Amino acid sequence: VFSAANVPQAPEDPLFGLMRAYRQDPFAKKVDLGIGAYRDDHAKPWILPVVRKADEILRSDPELNHEYLPIAGLPQYTGAAQKLILGADSPAIHDGRVATFQTISGTGAVHLGALFLAKFHPLRPAPTVYLSDPTWANHNQIFTNVGLQIAKYPYFSAQTKGLDIDGLLSTLLAAPAGSIIVLHACAHNPTGVDPTHDQWKQIATVIRERGHFPFFDCAYQGFASGDLARDAWAIRYFVSQGFETCVAQSFAKNFGLYGERAGAFHWISAPDAAATSQVTTGNIASQLAILQRSEISNPPAYGSRIASIVLNDPQLFAEWEEDLRTMSGRIAEMRLGLRQRLEARILADSSNIINGSQANWAHITSQIGMFSFTGLSESQVKVLREKWHIYMTKNGRISMAGINSHNIDYVAEAIDSVIR
Ligand code: PMP
Repeated sequence: VFSAANVPQAPEDPLFGLMRAYRQDPFAKKVDLGIGAYRDDHAKPWILPVVRKADEILRSDPELNHEYLPIAGLPQYTGAAQKLILGADSPAIHDGRVATFQTISGTGAVHLGALFLAKFHPLRPAPTVYLSDPTWANHNQIFTNVGLQIAKYPYFSAQTKGLDIDGLLSTLLAAPAGSIIVLHACAHNPTGVDPTHDQWKQIATVIRERGHFPFFDCAYQGFASGDLARDAWAIRYFVSQGFETCVAQSFAKNFGLYGERAGAFHWISAPDAAATSQVTTGNIASQLAILQRSEISNPPAYGSRIASIVLNDPQLFAEWEEDLRTMSGRIAEMRLGLRQRLEARILADSSNIINGSQANWAHITSQIGMFSFTGLSESQVKVLREKWHIYMTKNGRISMAGINSHNIDYVAEAIDSVIR
């Protein structure tokens, strides 16, 4: 029988624990480099100007009410989300082989995909899910919670602070045929390291050869490079190569709609005879509808309405692209600024460098997106927190959004001091 007394205490989520510790720290110059949300140059949350506009448009609509959305979500939103991720002229959309469901942001989209695969994959036991090492920590529990086995593929090379392409390819080659491979579409979290186009092609070749299933997680489209098409390149490439695939899409970062939970799950069937793939896609959509109904019944309305207003209006869409460039541009500037400051300090005093590999900070500017994997050790991270009141995850990941023109010198001074 169930006994509440047998339920052990679970550890606190490390990231949310970090946020709590930061909030409770009274030190005036404290710096939050843990948070995975954009901050402006004054370390404040930023409401995108285009989101403010869309909000006003939404509120002035006399027809606005609080009715339920359809199970699959707001149609104008899911349609626009498809075009955004696959390209407006995508043959997959044209052929009717994309099934899209509005989800509880990116997390809900990954979950819906995981649940669908756990339930409908023809193999028993279902194939193992391969996650990059490291990956967004939540991937581990989202996939295991639906009963799927997980494994790792090498991703980050501590030596080069770049992609371990050889390790990645050889592990995918050796994985049992038909495995599920989770790929970060752009701005890999936590490393900030993305494959080049050539490397993506090599990854696609191995996935094809082994009959694996590519599962894309896209949480940073447009936020990574400032260019929506560039950040969707890998997904569009795989789709153009005729893969059957799925995509978990989040609008948390690129619209700054974190708490509104706007996301989408897309299933893209392989381009068999058009009629066949339409039937397949329809069947898949019908099953997703049942899963969605039992899980959340229907998705939340507000965030999808905001995104939909912007995505479906060319003028607002252009303003959104400008806002994306503002965010990605500020982050790129901070990357360069931090790198320059660290390198200048090392040049100015190279007398007592303890760890030679930490004298090179080129990876800060070659990495992309919200995060940088600094290469700082767990003990260095601890000193940064205890002595300098600078908060980051134990693996040395820093959120570039937490750096601004007011704290960048302080952060550089602190990092420089712990590497000596
Ligand atoms: N996947 C990855 C890789 C992420 O970094 C995130 C955001 N931290 C998500 C998915 C989902 O976030 P959300 O549910 O807020 O959209």
